Amino acid sequence: MNTTFGGKPHVLILGGGSVGLTTASDLRKTLGTEVAITVVDPRPYMTYAPFLPEVGAGSIDPRNVLAPLRKILPGSKVVTGSVTQIRSSENTVVVNTEEDVQLEISYDYLVVGLGAVPRLLPIPGLAENAIGFKQVEEAVAVRDRILANLAEAASTKDPKIRKRLLTFTFIGGGFAGGEAVSETEDMVRDALRYYPDLHASDIRFVLIDAAPFVFPELTEDQRAYVLNQLRERGVEVKLETFLNSAEDGLIKTSDGDEFETGLLVWNAGVKPNPVLSDADVSDLPVITERGPMMGKLEALADLRVNGAEGPLDNVFAAGDCAAVPDLASGEGKFCPPNAQHAVRQGKRVADNIARSVQGRPMVDYYHKNLGVMATLGMYKGVGRLNVADKELDIRGLPAWAMARAYHVYAMPTLGRKAAVIAGWATNLISRRDIIGIPQSSTPRAAFEYAANSGKKK
Ligand SMILES: Cc1cc2nc3c(=O)[nH]c(=O)nc-3n(C[C@H](O)[C@H](O)[C@H](O)COP(=O)(O)OP(=O)(O)OC[C@H]3O[C@@H](n4cnc5c(N)ncnc54)[C@H](O)[C@@H]3O)c2cc1C
Repeated sequence: MNTTFGGKPHVLILGGGSVGLTTASDLRKTLGTEVAITVVDPRPYMTYAPFLPEVGAGSIDPRNVLAPLRKILPGSKVVTGSVTQIRSSENTVVVNTEEDVQLEISYDYLVVGLGAVPRLLPIPGLAENAIGFKQVEEAVAVRDRILANLAEAASTKDPKIRKRLLTFTFIGGGFAGGEAVSETEDMVRDALRYYPDLHASDIRFVLIDAAPFVFPELTEDQRAYVLNQLRERGVEVKLETFLNSAEDGLIKTSDGDEFETGLLVWNAGVKPNPVLSDADVSDLPVITERGPMMGKLEALADLRVNGAEGPLDNVFAAGDCAAVPDLASGEGKFCPPNAQHAVRQGKRVADNIARSVQGRPMVDYYHKNLGVMATLGMYKGVGRLNVADKELDIRGLPAWAMARAYHVYAMPTLGRKAAVIAGWATNLISRRDIIGIPQSSTPRAAFEYAANSGKKK
């Protein structure tokens, strides 16, 4: 056992997201102070990503989708830094803090919950001009940009500038991208009541996807329903279409269309955290075969990582960075990367570590998918629920209400749940806020302006 931790087994958790937070809090509940726990994450909070589309739409205050790790995990050590080396052969991990201080941390058990990052394609202008939608600051920036563009467009008469400012382009119509475009379009329609100079026909929302459908997790009938709804709301959905170029904000698509955009949001897929597939950084075995599992850690059903010479007994992986067998769906199937599985896998990891510490046999991960649900703007939603071996198709207001209720239930901490509900109640009374503050990304600009005696630099 690790002498540094008073002879207690030390559990080191990489990533304080859905997997990391759940594993740490469950482990503490099960084993109390029998183990030492350390969580490493560059962010001091866990982001509840399913609420990000509602942050982008101004329905939820950004802070209310963040769960502060230090507050939720008393008695555990939270290290704010990024993993830069994983040496499982030496039971050691190296972490770099923001100030570039290197910390070497040894462990008895390692839990890898490093999640996924956006999968970019080598499209000219994409890296320079697009923004992702995986982090809270991205959802806030998308909202700020859209609302600031409305304000700017209403203040200019130049038709070319207006057109660019009022064009919002989203690439990727999976769950995250589809919800993001639906929610923000709904926000714009709501905000237009305060812009007598702008008309709904001035606004152009474009959703582009290479696949022949949006929301792949839904049934064919439901996909058609969502597509219809988006098109009725004026969203231009381009299917089987590729983004060819985004240089200088000029969008060129494979159907020959060319237009300037005031915002480009990239949601076209994710890949496992690249830290894991860099052999100079990590010695953990990753899947190298081309396909959807490439770059992930191969997890056994009990969530231990599997290597060429069999399982690594003290290394566990779960969530978006792991290929976890989906025993409920049958042989050869893997769990889809979502919070529903990540949280439950985190619980299983915690229990299996407790079992290992107590010398009891581990248990395999088994979870029957509850289904999927999406909000598509205020009072609009769609979902597919698995109840008692039956698949329920829910749409419209009931789906929207159920999705909101489920996510409040799943959002960590009572305080945050209450704050989200209070925010929704406030919006019902006073409507959503329509202020965008893009200046928050340059907070010193006003001070510099004053220092330059009122001259813009
Ligand atoms: C917009 C959006 C909407 C979604 N909606 C839904 C939904 O409705 N339902 C659903 O089930 N799922 C949804 N998901 C997916 C869900 O959020 C993820 O599948 C889930 O969060 C995965 O959990 P995880 O712990 O594997 O990764 P994460 O929760 O992403 O956690 C990974 C953690 O690792 C940290 N990290 C990264 N690099 C390092 C490093 N080098 N060192 C240390 N730490 C690091 C990150 O900061 C992060 O905190 C949505 C995702 C998005 C982006």
